[in-house]
Amino acid sequence: MAEALSQTCNVCGARKQATNHWFRAAIVGVITPIEPDGEIPASILLPRLVVGDWADLKFPKPHAHICGAACLAKVASKFAGGELKPGEIPH
Ligand SMILES: [Zn+2]
Repeated sequence: MAEALSQTCNVCGARKQATNHWFRAAIVGVITPIEPDGEIPASILLPRLVVGDWADLKFPKPHAHICGAACLAKVASKFAGGELKPGEIPH
């Protein structure tokens, strides 16, 4: 597939090759209720890191193209550090 071969990793810039095992990763926003200890119900938008196989063409957008486990670990580290916000493309 020509489009897949022109893709580059959003973390390290590596070019997609036909035999690589790549991933897709997105930061989605999840609306979660806050504990109802006040009289006004409230909710908060929390980030969620979603990772999927490269072959998942229905993956949420926007998303990053990740070249392998090493770059996926870098994305997970940034997520754990609170550096990635909902809707932002992981990098
Ligand atoms: Zn990479």
